[in-house]
Amino acid sequence: MPDVFADLVGQDEAVDELRRAAAAAAAVLRAGAAAREPALIAAGPAGGATPDGVDPSTGMTHAWIFTGPPGSGRSVAARAFAAALQCVHGTGCGECPGCHTTMGGTHADVRLVVPEGLSIGVGEMRALVLRAASTPSGGRWQVVVVEDADRLTEAAGNALLKAIEEPPPRTVFLLCAPSTHPDDISVTIRSRCRVVPLRQPPATAVAEVLVRRDGIAPDVAQWAAAAAQGHVGRARRLARDPEARKRREAVLAVPRRLTGVGAAFDAASALIEAAEAEAEASVAEADTTERAALEMALGAGGTGRGAAGAVRGAAGQLKELEKRQKSRATRAQRDALDRALVDLAGFYRDALTMALRAPVAPVHTDTAALAGAGAQKWDAEGSLRRLEAVLACRAAIEANVKPRIAVEAMMLALWKG
Ligand SMILES: [Zn+2]
Repeated sequence: MPDVFADLVGQDEAVDELRRAAAAAAAVLRAGAAAREPALIAAGPAGGATPDGVDPSTGMTHAWIFTGPPGSGRSVAARAFAAALQCVHGTGCGECPGCHTTMGGTHADVRLVVPEGLSIGVGEMRALVLRAASTPSGGRWQVVVVEDADRLTEAAGNALLKAIEEPPPRTVFLLCAPSTHPDDISVTIRSRCRVVPLRQPPATAVAEVLVRRDGIAPDVAQWAAAAAQGHVGRARRLARDPEARKRREAVLAVPRRLTGVGAAFDAASALIEAAEAEAEASVAEADTTERAALEMALGAGGTGRGAAGAVRGAAGQLKELEKRQKSRATRAQRDALDRALVDLAGFYRDALTMALRAPVAPVHTDTAALAGAGAQKWDAEGSLRRLEAVLACRAAIEANVKPRIAVEAMMLALWKG
């Protein structure tokens, strides 16, 4: 197994910083072992150098935020850093039990919050914070990874803030968010954390990892890396999954199909329905398995004393499950639609760069000719207006405008120009 940071593509600076921090954290543990009661640190002025000459107040801290565009590897970075903190040999060797179990998601002292719905609730967060305050069973750190910290509800954010403000001595919080904008993460949480900004990895770096790790042919890897616009997971799916390629092709056929008002509405319907179908396929299996497992756990029937109460409780649990599944389905739909919009934006961006004769490679090499024809017809101004219409649609959906309404408005704008 390679080093735990091997999958973090094109992020050399961040990896250096995280390795330094992991080394400082290990030094804290050694110093603490000598003093019998190791404790972090926080960024307090009382810091001071350890016997190893590493100053923990500059090297390590108890709360971190990983920021970057989707696909840049925020959660990959957070998990790798968690492994580096649990590594018993060094700073993320990838081979020791600490690294192995963390990367495999089974380390007893690493808790992962992966929201499936649109938000992370306060109940989940309180339970997590409570468990994270316990002494690490492996003798190192309790690590809490919150993926999509921007999806915390306000109450959940407050519960987390309290823990970050008065951190248990051996607990480390790793949050992931698109940015440090107050919409994504509260100013007070931000002020307690060290920020690790990740960049959009260059297509060449993404292609390299697809070839090296996934064994994908170099030409396919290059095409997929460019088409995915720096999103590593998306590039891998495009390279491997024919269904994903088919969906992308259907989206990129949209500009050609916009021949009138009726066609614009048809295209909007097709896009929405495709996103719904994709989302349904992605959650259907999990939904069925979860429901079967819950029904099994609750047991069917039962007539003895207390059975009526048990049935009421069971109904409540099923309702709760349905609510969670609905929330996850909505999220999956939005994600699918957003991927389609990013592909479409790439097409108009290609038209714009061609109209400007900018010396940059197209995002979608396979529709470059079509984008070239668009560039001639629309010129730079018309291409830019269309690109802006796609971006406005994403922003509207993000701001909770009904997807169908936003997409219809976009299609009309793309047709009219
Ligand atoms: Zn290790």
